[in-house]
Amino acid sequence: MYEEAVSRLASARSLAVITGAGISAESGIPTFRGKDGLWRNYKAEELATPEAFERSPSVVWEWYDMRRGVCASAKPNPAHFAVADMERTIEDFLLITQNVDGLHCRAGSKKLLEIHGNIWKARCMKCRSVFEVNETPLKENPVRCKCGSIARPYIVWFGERYEEGILERASEFLSRTDFLIVIGTSGMVTTPVWLVQIADKAGAYIVDINIEPSLVTGIADHFLEGKAGLVLPEFWSNAKSKRH
Ligand code: NAD
Ligand code: ZN
Repeated sequence: MYEEAVSRLASARSLAVITGAGISAESGIPTFRGKDGLWRNYKAEELATPEAFERSPSVVWEWYDMRRGVCASAKPNPAHFAVADMERTIEDFLLITQNVDGLHCRAGSKKLLEIHGNIWKARCMKCRSVFEVNETPLKENPVRCKCGSIARPYIVWFGERYEEGILERASEFLSRTDFLIVIGTSGMVTTPVWLVQIADKAGAYIVDINIEPSLVTGIADHFLEGKAGLVLPEFWSNAKSKRH
């Protein structure tokens, strides 16, 4: 029930937010499975893999450079700003994002885990150092590290492991939070669903925000159907006005 969700959030002492590609859709960044999901007839699942990079580093970098261009001209939307305001209001807060676009940081979020990496960074294939690559279009493709070796996008690809310790930090918070908001996450990637289940088992109240039911909806206590940029700021301002 909407009213119950609002009053639970109003009294929450601890809040976690999990976001997926859907929160950035209204900023003009396509989701992987939406209608704009193809690039030169490749599916994302055919490009965002270590095998694709091994076959053709420059094609994979070209795809990322196209997406970097989209991210550079995109702006955070009211949903990103609402999440940043939650962090300023509720002391015990953690944002866990699957997005790599950097929009949460640009909206002012600081307590965040970018569990799938960041599109503005690269990692050397040899010395493994991580560095920023800010220019788009790229000056050289493939991107190279100072040591001379080829570097790859700093992204967790399909079939890859997460950065050491990052899921532990997320699950530690989720196992003790009293409220969780999940936004724009299809659940086709299984780790976010696993994280939602941790909060559920620990007794958190869970709200799912999406334009259509997802694999998270069945776990959630309340489903808020609609566009994140419309539904979330309203939900948050209702709850915030009841906080004391
Ligand atoms: P997904 O593309 O699988 O699913 C997106 C979800 O967002 C869908 O359930 C869809 O119904 C919902 N959605 C679409 N528009 C919405 C809106 N306006 N408001 C609320 N919900 C909306 O995305 P995913 O589950 O995050 O998984 C894909 C993976 O690909 C991610 O883990 C991420 O790493 C990566 N990815 C990132 C970006 C980005 O950084 N912006 C974009 C595409 C993919
Ligand atoms: Zn190197």
